[in-house]
Amino acid sequence: MIDAATVQANLARVHERLAAAGGDVGAITVVAVTKAFDAPVAAAALAAGIGDLGENYAQQLLAKVAAFADAPPAMAPRWHMIGSLQRNKVPALAPHVDCWQTVDRLSLGTAIARRAPGATVLVQVNATDEPHKGGCPPEQASELVGALTDAGLQVRGLMAVGKAGDDDGTARAFTTVAHLADRLDLPVRSMGMSGDLELAVRAGTTMVRVGRDLFGARPDARPGSGGVGD
Ligand SMILES: *Cc1c(COP(=O)(O)O)cnc(C)c1O
Repeated sequence: MIDAATVQANLARVHERLAAAGGDVGAITVVAVTKAFDAPVAAAALAAGIGDLGENYAQQLLAKVAAFADAPPAMAPRWHMIGSLQRNKVPALAPHVDCWQTVDRLSLGTAIARRAPGATVLVQVNATDEPHKGGCPPEQASELVGALTDAGLQVRGLMAVGKAGDDDGTARAFTTVAHLADRLDLPVRSMGMSGDLELAVRAGTTMVRVGRDLFGARPDARPGSGGVGD
């Protein structure tokens, strides 16, 4: 059973790793990734003092929103959508998502702007040269940020996912994205998960998305999803 005390202890360990890598723990937001877990795990994260929760799948996010429907506003989590997203999911999500982290094309941004004018978004950048993954190419990020801003969205930063099994490639990608954020004057850099926290800190992350290191191994992947951890 994952209870608040367990999450708190695991969070302390995550903070230690961030600090050991040279990070300013007070300046790095930890988003707890609750995908594949049930609502009680999300409640344990909240009770442990983590107010930012991340989900990859619309259905799982909406199920947890429903579970917290009766919570007082002060106890309501901030929901981050961190999975690749189809436009047709936007209407159902729009009332509940506080930060859309995976905006990588204008058509998706336009759909969000229509349902949630002024919403906070991050532009996902694919800096690892893996075409099957989400994210816009680094050289298109500037234009996309401009277009999303023109569409009325609050573009707060950039988001990136590292390259599995390739620390050098991940470090290079995170550095590319951090420089891009500098150049575009964007404060938020959402980079780093359980396996690459240190690389993200060294590149100047301001937001890490952590699942396994807070909650342990995820329950079975959803059938046909290609693995929840991907
Ligand atoms: C699953 C996931 C995470 C969390 O990964 P862990 O290895 O469990 O920390 C972070 N970001 C994204 C985009 C994810 O899909």
